[in-house]
Order: sequence, then C-alpha cells, then structure tokens
Amino acid sequence: MTFLSEVEIPLKVVIDKHKERVVFAEANSDFVDILFSFLTMPMGTIVRLLNKHLEYSKPPPIGNFNNLYETVVNFDAKYFVTSENKDWLVTTSNNAGPECQSLKINIDDTNLRKYFICPNSSCTIERDLPSISSYSSVKCRHCGEYLSRLINYRADTSEANEGVFLSQTASFVISDDLHVTPNTMDSTIRILESTGIKEFGVLEEKMLQIGSSEILDLLMYSMSSKTPLTDMVFGKKEFISDIVMPSIQSQISTECVTNFKNMSVKVLVQKSNNRILLAQTAEDFVEFLFCFLGMPMGRIIRFLGDSYLSKGVVDNLYRSLSNLDVGKHLKSDDLKCMLLNPAFDIPSIQTFYTNDEEDVDYYFHSNYDSLSKQNTFYLTYGNGREMTYEEPLKDDEAFVRGPKNFMVSDDLSVTPLSFMSCITYLRSLKVPLSDVEEHEINIGAEEALNLLRACLMSTSVLTIGLKNFMPIDSLQENGRWWRPLRRLFSECFLQQ
Ligand SMILES: [Zn+2]
Repeated sequence: MTFLSEVEIPLKVVIDKHKERVVFAEANSDFVDILFSFLTMPMGTIVRLLNKHLEYSKPPPIGNFNNLYETVVNFDAKYFVTSENKDWLVTTSNNAGPECQSLKINIDDTNLRKYFICPNSSCTIERDLPSISSYSSVKCRHCGEYLSRLINYRADTSEANEGVFLSQTASFVISDDLHVTPNTMDSTIRILESTGIKEFGVLEEKMLQIGSSEILDLLMYSMSSKTPLTDMVFGKKEFISDIVMPSIQSQISTECVTNFKNMSVKVLVQKSNNRILLAQTAEDFVEFLFCFLGMPMGRIIRFLGDSYLSKGVVDNLYRSLSNLDVGKHLKSDDLKCMLLNPAFDIPSIQTFYTNDEEDVDYYFHSNYDSLSKQNTFYLTYGNGREMTYEEPLKDDEAFVRGPKNFMVSDDLSVTPLSFMSCITYLRSLKVPLSDVEEHEINIGAEEALNLLRACLMSTSVLTIGLKNFMPIDSLQENGRWWRPLRRLFSECFLQQ
C-alpha cells in the first residue's frame, strides 16, 4: 500500500456489530471534502492511483477503464499528433487540482497542468483577452512570441483550518452507500429506518483514524461496491463482476451533450449472439475513446444523469451534493459548480461534447513587486481578468494522427488495422466465419454516452454500448472491407 502522507483524520462510524456493517458515519468537512473531490478526478487518474494502491497485483475493479488505460500506455507515440497528447492521457491531471492540494489528505500525486503566457508582461497586462495555453508551441495573439512564460497557480485562498469545498463548521451524516446529508436528528433517523434496524442494542460507535490508504480503498469501493464504508472498515471479500444490464433500458438523455461530432464505425458482429468482435474505425473514434480517460467522474455522472449505472455508488455523492446549500454547507456557487460540472483538463475533449459556451474560462490576477520591478501572474478561478485559451494550430487540434484506420476490440484494445492483425485476432476468438457479418454504425451523442456507460460496467464495451444501435441490414452486399477479407481469411484456413 502507498502512504502518500502520514496525516490521519478522525471518522466516527456507527456499526451494526452483529452483521459487521457500517450503518452510518459522522464526519466534518475534512472527510466530506475528500469524498466530494472524487468527483473531480479524471478516470485516467483514478486508474493510475488505484493501480499503484493495489501494487499492480490486480486490475482496479472499474469496468473497462483499466484496459483502456493500458491501451493508451501501449499505443505507439507516433500516432499522436504531439508528444504532449499521449502524456496528457497517461497522466491526466485534475482541473480542480489546486483546490485538492488543500485537502487534509490529498491522494492525487499528479503534477498540476502547466499553463503558459506571453513572455512580454505588457501583452498580459495591457491587452484585452491575453493568450494562455497549455501548449508552449503556441504563439501570443498580440505580439506573436511563443507562449513560454509559466503562469503560477492560483494561490491557496482558503484560510488555515477552513474547508476546501465545504464550510469548516458543517457536520454531515454519511450512509453506507454514500448519501451525504447535513447532520441532523432527522437524517440519522431516516438512515436507521432505511437500514431496517429496530434494535438499538446492536449499534456500536467507533472512532477511526483515516489515512491515505483508507481513502484510496474508499475511492475504489465507491466505484465497485454498494457498501463502500463497510468495505473500508471491515475489508472487502470479492467484487461484483460485470453488471447485468436491465432488460428494459431507459434511453439516455443527450441534453448535456450539445455539439457532438458524429462518426461512423464498421463492426464485425457474431450473428448468433450479437457480440461485436471488432470495429474498424478511423482516428476520430479512437481519439474519442481515449478521451474517456480525461473525463472527471462527476462529469460522467452529469452526462449520464438518471441512466448512470455502475457497480458502485459514487453517483450518490453527486446527488447529495446537488441538495446541499451554498453558504450554509458549500462555500460558494463556483465551488459547487466545480464539483457538479468538473472541467476537462484536456481542452480538446470538449470538441466532442460541448459547445463553446461551456469552455473553461481562464482568469488571472497579477502582483507587481516594486523591489524586483517584476509582475507575477496567477491563474484564478472565476474572478480576475479573462484570458483566451489558445489551441495549437487548427490541423493539430486532433489527438490521434490520421488519416489512418484502426482495429478496436470489444474491450478497447486498439491497433493499426492490418490484414494480419485482423486475421490473428479473429482466429484467436474461434468464431466460425459463417457466423460473422459486418455492419456500419453511426456514432452520435446517444451512442457515445452508451459507450461511456458500458466502459464503466463491463469489458464488453462495444457490444454493450452499441448493440441497440445495430442496423438491421448487414453490410455484406456492399461492405468494402469484410467481404474480401473474409475470402482471404477462408483461403488461409483452407491452406492449413
Ligand atoms: Zn505577447
């Protein structure tokens, strides 16, 4: 286990001593701030932290995200447009990172993203909408110099002993499935009622000391178990394997996705069981899948809304948060928004999902030091003077270099498409050729959200995510790809 810091915070739990389960916990803002920070973490960060926590002995039980992460790690850097792009996906950083550094226990050891501004102070101080970018290869819109000056992160504005997202004085009750409510007699009674406990004699109060190892356990259980507090306190025996989808699925609302770039993929389907064996895609779909890693947990819950479905209960944190009052419990509207709609740290991801109005805004303030006669610039959140985020050259907006075709397996391993890789893969699946047909699927916002949800639940991401969108007619008659491949494939078999 990794001990990032030796700091421990107290947590009072009330347990049912007969059933060895946590009935509820009582905590102050230090602990609940940490719980809510889970929502700001990109999935890539969660995979990386949990892998390290589990000492790489077993994959973290979070759907297919571990496989996707491995795919990106193993994906040849030459297919990325810039070397930064691969690094950003492998070491996703949290847009709320500066705030999270003030948590009593911060389990995220990722470096904060670097931002650059113009080396000429006058461009930033005197001109409207000065340039900022996380690419140092971009030039200032005013003077044309490369943005080479590193800007400081917003200084920690919270006072010592003050909460990060929550008011320091607030006190909360947390149910085993992570419903967080203000600590009142009512909320405690409601939890007791919901757990069906009638005999108070079975209850026992315990005072625990929670360190980074327990927080990492809790992060893992929040995404993989319906009883994360019990599992953290008593240890988890085994995890639920893939989720069985309910037979009647509600349609996913796409109202949070305003500007989805449609794409198309060709898939090879095993007819007898509707399993998608592999997809043949261009670079845009690969890029879209890779960007799942940059997506903060809270953003996924927001996107999926009522259709969110996973093995865990982390969405209860999200729903609890929306019921907490600003001023009374949460420190500000900006911070509530930061948790309910956490920003993508990789700006290019936005091109898939949102319109420009939802772009992250960048603001700064500056201090003039009369001794050194130098200005120091700080990024601020939600106040200060506005800056313009500069993307790299238009052609470089994409992450994955194209035009190129790739082969994507059901569990999202991605390799450049070649005849041999395809043959080898299909042979390894041992599916009779007569049972395979090709379809073309258009990927719009609804398909995209289904794929995202499938990635949280199962390693059969393409099958679960796209099976409801399969056109009735196969592409066999006019498919330009599978028919000749199938002919060659049969010949290969016949030769042996
Ligand atoms: Zn300049």
